[in-house]
Amino acid sequence: MHPMKVTFLGTGTSQGIPMIACECEVCQSTDSRDQRLRVSMHIETNGKSFIIDTGPDFRQQVLRAGIKRVDAIIYTHEHKDHTAGMDDVRGFNYAQKSSIPLYAQKNVIEQLKREFAYAFDENKYPGVPEIEVHEIQNNSFTIQGVNFLPILVKHYFLDVFGYRIGDFTYITDANAISSNEVEKIKGSKILVINALRKTSHVSHFTLEEALEIIQTVQPEFAYITHISHQMGLQSEVQKELPANVFLAYDGLEIII
Ligand SMILES: [Zn+2]
Ligand SMILES: [Zn+2]
Ligand SMILES: [Zn+2]
Repeated sequence: MHPMKVTFLGTGTSQGIPMIACECEVCQSTDSRDQRLRVSMHIETNGKSFIIDTGPDFRQQVLRAGIKRVDAIIYTHEHKDHTAGMDDVRGFNYAQKSSIPLYAQKNVIEQLKREFAYAFDENKYPGVPEIEVHEIQNNSFTIQGVNFLPILVKHYFLDVFGYRIGDFTYITDANAISSNEVEKIKGSKILVINALRKTSHVSHFTLEEALEIIQTVQPEFAYITHISHQMGLQSEVQKELPANVFLAYDGLEIII
């Protein structure tokens, strides 16, 4: 297994933090860790650069992290906070003089075709995103020598893919994981899992529910992402967590 560096490009729920027009203490916080763009991950391994999801903040995140190359983009699901920034792959088209491979489930590809119809036209207007779409199912797949194992999770009634890459597992937007899929996560050194807030939600784990999954999987370290302003201040919530569990924050890097 090659060493891997993962960077949290965003750790916020669909509205981001601060939320527009909100005056709560989290949205007003001056702690930079409380300022969260929409969720996305950058994974560097084996000399390759991968991004999971291109939300509305994609351009800003790539610039902020200084990412100069992308070998593929892998999608978790079709919600707008995970797809809205796809148009900005154009920057990588110009820099790399090539199309960018996208990997996603069928329903995600259908959604991308609706949202970005111009990128799929037969007679494309010059300058539109150049992409190469690969449909994936719940079976492991390899991109340029790097293996991705999908983890099928439920996000209310929607099927979402988490991904295990070696000892690293990333799960966003889930409120249930079947025991078969939990088995696929076991043995991960690092588990990233979503928790929206402390009170229950129809399509996301609460903090307590995420901690239960962490307890079952027993990773060395776990990180919480897709966080709402209702979770509370980073500095306060962090104190309540077990020693090996962290609230992720934007810009956080982990070497595995
Ligand atoms: Zn989301
Ligand atoms: Zn707020
Ligand atoms: Zn979602």
